[in-house]
Amino acid sequence: MTVITHAEVLVASPGRNFVTLRVTTSDGVTGLGDATLNGRELAVASYLRDHLVPLLIGRDPARIEDMWQYLYRGAYWRRGPVTMTAIAAVDTALWDIKGKVAGLPVYQLLGGRSREGVMVYTHASGPDVPALLDDVARAKELGYRAIRAQTAVPGVAGTYGVKKNGRYEPANASLPEEQPWSTEDYLRFAPSYLAAVRETHGFDFHLLHDVHHRLTPLEAARFGRAVEEVDLFWMEDPTPAENQEAFRLIRQHTTTPVAVGEALTSIWDVQHLITEQLIDYVRMTVVHSGGITHLRRIFDLAALYQVRSGSHGASDLSPVSQAAAVHLDLAIANFGIQEHMGYPDEVADVFHSHVQYADGALDVGDVPGLGVEYDDDAAARYPYEPRYLPVARRLDGSVHDW
Ligand SMILES: [Mg+2]
Repeated sequence: MTVITHAEVLVASPGRNFVTLRVTTSDGVTGLGDATLNGRELAVASYLRDHLVPLLIGRDPARIEDMWQYLYRGAYWRRGPVTMTAIAAVDTALWDIKGKVAGLPVYQLLGGRSREGVMVYTHASGPDVPALLDDVARAKELGYRAIRAQTAVPGVAGTYGVKKNGRYEPANASLPEEQPWSTEDYLRFAPSYLAAVRETHGFDFHLLHDVHHRLTPLEAARFGRAVEEVDLFWMEDPTPAENQEAFRLIRQHTTTPVAVGEALTSIWDVQHLITEQLIDYVRMTVVHSGGITHLRRIFDLAALYQVRSGSHGASDLSPVSQAAAVHLDLAIANFGIQEHMGYPDEVADVFHSHVQYADGALDVGDVPGLGVEYDDDAAARYPYEPRYLPVARRLDGSVHDW
């Protein structure tokens, strides 16, 4: 019988930190899984190296569902981002192996194509409204059919999602940067710049906006009503989602679609959001939600309630996660959209991926497995560096949700 003979935890920082699990079988087949948890990378590396890798050795790599149950239910301590990211890395690597053994791309194992390419949205932003409008024009020229728009609130230096020098990389400091935040100023300003995007660029593309967990449910309801005229594809993370009931209030007041899930890790975190149809798009990811096996289960639950996928795709998800996401997006019936943020140039030195962008969509080739290779020699040139996401503080100094 083919068994897992070893598994390595690879940590490298080509432009930003990534943790990767590589599983090898007795037949010499290798599979990759992303294990990156932004700002807490080494916790997952330890969870894998010290607690999961010893459990993998000697097991059958073909038994993906059983492995998932063994690592989730068998651990007693369940859920949470560190656990679910570690399980995701193992699960993703086993799907990669299964595809290579079968000689098929992973999307074929998931039921085959439901579509030609997956529609993606890109990020447009700028320090002020004219710069944002220019960046939306740039995105349209690149062929994007869906664009997320963010710009800095005047006088509030900590506004989420604004590029510096052409890139947005929030995990930018060896200790967390502290940034000021004013909900009042944001609520006064944001609807006007989203309207300016429509006035300048029209309605022939999908316009998205990320609130980034900054509002209370009532504030989010007001915001959703204020932007109904600009016809948002979605407002993302309008309020923190620990309390799923909070979304009922938002729903009662606005028809602006709602997308949630990038910081959630299990099907239980979105159970009521989905079954009570409190959201329109579930934004969970392969890497932080227990891998392809668990995210497929979440998307299948969502399909019963006409909730569509809209997976997170920030640059802190490695190209292994990106490839896994595209394979899943190609296969599921209720795909909505996929985030496509892009990577620093150095990332391509370490991760050789077959994912390709064209005409507003991502696709994968017909390479068996996920279609990503890891370059150890290149990775050795990019050692790990501590990097943290910022912390937000209100103008009175108290901590706010970042
Ligand atoms: Mg977001």
